[in-house]
Amino acid sequence: MSRPDESVVHGSPASPSPPASEALATAPDLPAVDRLLRTGASRALIAEHGHTLVAGEARGLLDALRAQALAQQLPRSDIAPERLAQRLQTRVAERLAPRMTPVLNLTGTVIHTNLGRALLADSALQHLLAMMAGPNNLEYDLASGRRGDRDSIVEGLLCELTGAEAATVVNNNAAAVLLTIAALARGQEVIVSRGELVEIGGAFRMPDVMESAGARLVEVGTTNRTHPHDYERAITDRTALLMKVHTSNYAVQGFTSAVDEATLCGIAHARGLPVATDLGSGALIDLSAYGLPREPLPQDMLKAGCDVVSFSGDKLLGGPQAGLIVGTRAAVDRIRKFPMKRALRMSKLPLAALEATLMLYLRPERLAQDLPTLRLLTRPLADIEATAHAVLPALSAALAPRYTVTLVPLQGQIGSGSLPVERLRSAGLAIAPAERKGAGRALDQLATALRALPLPVIGRIADDRLILDCRCLEDPHQLTKQISHLSL
Ligand SMILES: *Cc1c(COP(=O)(O)O)cnc(C)c1O
Repeated sequence: MSRPDESVVHGSPASPSPPASEALATAPDLPAVDRLLRTGASRALIAEHGHTLVAGEARGLLDALRAQALAQQLPRSDIAPERLAQRLQTRVAERLAPRMTPVLNLTGTVIHTNLGRALLADSALQHLLAMMAGPNNLEYDLASGRRGDRDSIVEGLLCELTGAEAATVVNNNAAAVLLTIAALARGQEVIVSRGELVEIGGAFRMPDVMESAGARLVEVGTTNRTHPHDYERAITDRTALLMKVHTSNYAVQGFTSAVDEATLCGIAHARGLPVATDLGSGALIDLSAYGLPREPLPQDMLKAGCDVVSFSGDKLLGGPQAGLIVGTRAAVDRIRKFPMKRALRMSKLPLAALEATLMLYLRPERLAQDLPTLRLLTRPLADIEATAHAVLPALSAALAPRYTVTLVPLQGQIGSGSLPVERLRSAGLAIAPAERKGAGRALDQLATALRALPLPVIGRIADDRLILDCRCLEDPHQLTKQISHLSL
């Protein structure tokens, strides 16, 4: 490894070099991989993690140091044995740190799509863990000893909770919509109001979904007004399905008119056509009973006569990612038997969590305690304010004098396209830079530092302040105990 020519240029340990270059290490000063791996610290790492990972990281570390040395930017102190041991340990630890990590959602949006949407209930977590630790009866009928159907795990519960004749589940609601359209209308036409050609985000747009499902979209009405005769006139012998899409993430207000499900079902059924509704949010209980705005329920849609209703598992339902399809036996059977269903079927992980989540709805009196989504949405304002109060002193002290922290009233959101216009009265902390000059940079710096905490804190920037909404901070210690790690 030793290259004498370079040693001559930069000086070698044998021949003392001038002070300027003595501070820098050269490539030949670096130990060989084997030597680094024979040190006590490396041996301890190897005993814990095995040779492959540690040797790989040792090579990576030495490569990086060599490049630094060749650029004449490697201080000699950096290659002291204890420094090398420490850096190797850090590299191994970083390699083993999962990319997916818990965060503190202080955005004020309870069901935040980018932050994993609904939090699972304890019972769902426990059931999930128990089912994943070993074999289970996912597709095995214990009574007969024959092959079973994974849908049957939740079908009974879903029917009971929504009043449906039949139910099936897939990966997510986007898959549910795609499958429903493909199974009921492939190669034919689907009629949708122009007021309901929703884009959910992440490339889920109704017209594109329609195309992917192999159906032709027939748009009727206008953005703000669609009437029964718009649907009636669009029906031809190529029509296979009439569809309603819940405009979950926007609201059309003012001079508007839409055809309700009952009217639409009357029109469709008179011509022997089915109606499907994409409900999105998937509330199974009347939220107005909790002082929240009312979301349409699948049970209402079924009562109105819809043949199929689909909704998400991880929005207002408060469960895992899932697409729930409920409806008439005839329609659900067609959907379940459609070959695409196999590609979109739910995995055992979310299925276990979904079963346990649905189970919580059998005890509605306890739901606001047991279901984290509902617990957070109904959290008393005084409670949120108390949390903000509890966090304020430590945060103020840590951020002074560069920033000032104040307790502020806030307007939070339900999120994930649910009730987009409604706001939840909330409270939290507003952090403002003390100096006006460079305030923007100071805010970005703070937001970055908060995201770099062991438990990253995600807030939002508004009106030149960093806002930390405390609705979803049920335990103030989660924030206060890591404030000492804040580095600005
Ligand atoms: C959220 C939503 C979807 C997509 O549901 P995912 O479970 O996220 O796949 C589809 N339609 C509507 C109306 C929605 O609100």
